[in-house]
Amino acid sequence: MNFFSSFYSSWVRTALTRSEPFEEISMPRLLKMTRLTAIAMPLALVFALLFPIVGSADSKIRIMTATTDLASLAQEVGGDKVDVESVARGYQDPHYVDPKPSFLLKLSKAELLIVVGLELEIGWLPPLITQSSNPRIQVGAPGYFDASRFARILELPTGQVTRAEGDVHPLGNPHYWLDPDNGLRIAKGIQNKISEMRPNDAAYFAQRYDAFEQRLKQSDQQWQAQMKPYAGRKVVTYHRSWPNFAEHFGLNVVGYVEPRPGIPPSPQHTVELIGQMKREGVKIIMVEPYFDLKTPNSIARETGAQVVVLMPSVGGEKEITDYFKLFDYDIAKLKKAFDETH
Ligand SMILES: [Zn+2]
Repeated sequence: MNFFSSFYSSWVRTALTRSEPFEEISMPRLLKMTRLTAIAMPLALVFALLFPIVGSADSKIRIMTATTDLASLAQEVGGDKVDVESVARGYQDPHYVDPKPSFLLKLSKAELLIVVGLELEIGWLPPLITQSSNPRIQVGAPGYFDASRFARILELPTGQVTRAEGDVHPLGNPHYWLDPDNGLRIAKGIQNKISEMRPNDAAYFAQRYDAFEQRLKQSDQQWQAQMKPYAGRKVVTYHRSWPNFAEHFGLNVVGYVEPRPGIPPSPQHTVELIGQMKREGVKIIMVEPYFDLKTPNSIARETGAQVVVLMPSVGGEKEITDYFKLFDYDIAKLKKAFDETH
């Protein structure tokens, strides 16, 4: 209110005192000024009324996400009515994040916390949530949003749920955001959630989601077309980060450098993998940026395969600034590697 009303009154003052006394202002100029005032007055009033509601930083929904991919999706839907930040960086292994202490303060002020779930963040996020002392984002509170509830989850456990032998995917594969269809499902869930929180902005969020869906579907058509020549190609990946990506883009993941998710490569497993890759003619080893390249490189030497470092998350490289650029980057790198190893 203050900003616009003072802006308005100073504008009027300047207009009236700029030159001669009021009586000497010519008639056409007076008319022009009156017309301007007739436009400016209601405009200023509208702005003054709106300003405290939509313009101040406080009115934005303060969202924290566990990972950068969720932050990108929340930003797509929330536009300038949300303030989004991720705890994990895009180049970090999302299973093992060492969060900066400064995130405690941010979490304590958050209205919404969006997590990947399926125990991906179990090693680092629960203590942060507890220490934030923020009742809004505690597990089960309205401000705790588990994105896995909206996504298509692969590798669901069939028997007893266990982390036996160190398996870090006991509830199904938590790397599900690497499928644009899941990106859409998550974005829809976020749209509904933030519309509940700010009913007055529901139409804005709906329009943002629709635009995002349209752009993503268009981009996905291009990605699918780029990947089509390599449909069914066999690949090996370091960690089980790519089942959703592989399913969506028609790749065939036949083995892993890790014996089990979260378990470092063992000599025996590596020997078996090399044998399998030779038998099946596998020429691509997809590696996430946070793993040691020693074992993948030695496997590549033995098999004639190429090690391709792909980014599982937004921000893994500077140029990967959003969810779209993530697929742009990975698909371009894969395409090049397939062409070079054929
Ligand atoms: Zn994992």
